[in-house]
Amino acid sequence: MNLDYVKEVALKLFLCDSPTGYSKNVNILLLKLLEELGYKAKITNKGNVKLFIEGKRHSKKVATSAHVDTLGLMVRSINVDGTLAVTNVGGPLIPTLDGEYCMIMTRSGKSYTGTILCSSASAHVYEDARSKTRDLSSILVRIDERVSSKDEVRKLGIENGDYVFIDPKTVITNSGFLKSRFIDDKGSVCAILGVLKELKDKNEIPAYDTYVYFVNQEEVGHGAATTDSDIDEFVTVDMGCIGKDLSGNEFEVSICAKDSGGPYSYELTSRLVELAKKNKIGYVVDIFPFYGSDIGAAWSSGVDCAGALIGPGVHASHGMERTHLDAIENTMKLLYLYLTTEEE
Ligand SMILES: [Zn+2]
Repeated sequence: MNLDYVKEVALKLFLCDSPTGYSKNVNILLLKLLEELGYKAKITNKGNVKLFIEGKRHSKKVATSAHVDTLGLMVRSINVDGTLAVTNVGGPLIPTLDGEYCMIMTRSGKSYTGTILCSSASAHVYEDARSKTRDLSSILVRIDERVSSKDEVRKLGIENGDYVFIDPKTVITNSGFLKSRFIDDKGSVCAILGVLKELKDKNEIPAYDTYVYFVNQEEVGHGAATTDSDIDEFVTVDMGCIGKDLSGNEFEVSICAKDSGGPYSYELTSRLVELAKKNKIGYVVDIFPFYGSDIGAAWSSGVDCAGALIGPGVHASHGMERTHLDAIENTMKLLYLYLTTEEE
């Protein structure tokens, strides 16, 4: 697997802000990356990127997906002191946002930098600067402009409903760690792109007709609700959970047996476990305690497919996340084998 390519696309993808619902720029970037690999994809009405690859056999249709939308914030209202009150887009861990740099994007395309802070921000002024609960009612955005009233902020063009992008702070260390916000699920997007490159480099095509979706709106629960209705099997790629009694880690691919939506398809999941075992891919099987995925969205919308979930283990999800390139590589290997292996 070409990890240099993965690193290269990771830096491009992570730097392209794409909170749920704001997908235009990242979709254009995805189309470009896919075109460079020799694939022609299209953007659907809902804002998913969809690619169809003809396989060796046409007896069934398989699908894979990863979500390119991330967590974020949106302006709820402009405070009288010229700061911004915010609402969440998806479920970021709000306490981890205290002190983070951000960018406010207006609907006319103007952007302003800022910092996310607690309303009791100064240790020298507020008794509860350390103890105040960091939640949506207590955090605000300090804009890097000379503004101290609602009117002055509105003169900048900032309005309710404008997106606030959170700085992902993406770093790839010499020791092979990818640390950044939103590895859930851009890490998996990179893995799928890496597999698509591998197919081209090896002059290989999938065993069966294959749909690939880069999904928007997963973080709010309905990302893959509009996938094609003729899919027979759907293996989504999304982050693996790490912590507590789970087996997941930053070096292996997690195969999810069950999440909040219930068990994944037994036979398809077992096939993935067998593929990993037989080919000595570093993997774990886990249940994900508080988790939903594109399979649940597809099932809820009525798609009659078998569904499974695999993905790189991601530490500290929805906060300052981290994984290792080994986990992405193991995910790529398993997905590549799944897509290219003909069933006996
Ligand atoms: Zn995810």
